[in-house]
Amino acid sequence: EFGEISIKDLDQLARSSFPLCMRHLFDKLREDHHLKHGGRMQLGLFLKYVFRRLFTFLLSLTLCVSLYAKGVGLRMEDALAFWKAEFSHKVGAERFDKEYAYSIRHNYGKEGKRTDYTPYSCQKIISSTPGVGDHHGCPYRHFSEENLRAALGRMGVGSRAMEDVVDKVRNRHYQLACTLTFEAVHSSSCDAGINHPNQYFSDSHKILQ
Ligand code: SF4
Repeated sequence: EFGEISIKDLDQLARSSFPLCMRHLFDKLREDHHLKHGGRMQLGLFLKYVFRRLFTFLLSLTLCVSLYAKGVGLRMEDALAFWKAEFSHKVGAERFDKEYAYSIRHNYGKEGKRTDYTPYSCQKIISSTPGVGDHHGCPYRHFSEENLRAALGRMGVGSRAMEDVVDKVRNRHYQLACTLTFEAVHSSSCDAGINHPNQYFSDSHKILQ
């Protein structure tokens, strides 16, 4: 089933291809089984396009139009199943259905004004102002240096590259810091630079797939 493939692959994909902002949200969701509104929006809209890309990739393998039609419908179901599985640990399935499912369908343009919301760019994420208990935002901008170094270490950034990344952060070049991280963990150059989390993901997926 398409749906199972995409959900099952998410943990692996998060480790290999998510930028730090999304990896942090993803890990927090797995850990706490909850994210506040800002985090749900930032991660939810990013994942929407991750699911979309996976389906497009699978589609290119199958070249089957009727499966594509099925896949389009499944994507939101996948997202709902994914969020429900996490949130149910914390708030229970019933409360998830009552309080949270709406906002996921809303992200997909299935509720409210029916806008097909687009994922946030780096600029928007960097200029956000996460409060206490929030996990959204850009770690290069919003983490303390100590936390950033620890997170980069977990991503596999070596000590030399880490100094270069921290240097960019000190000069407030957050997207350049993210670009250097991309280059360090993929051992590959990223000449265009990182300006969108979904671009980070698709460039990474291209290199690794
Ligand atoms: Fe995410 Fe962009 Fe910040 Fe990288 S620079 S962590 S992709 S917001």
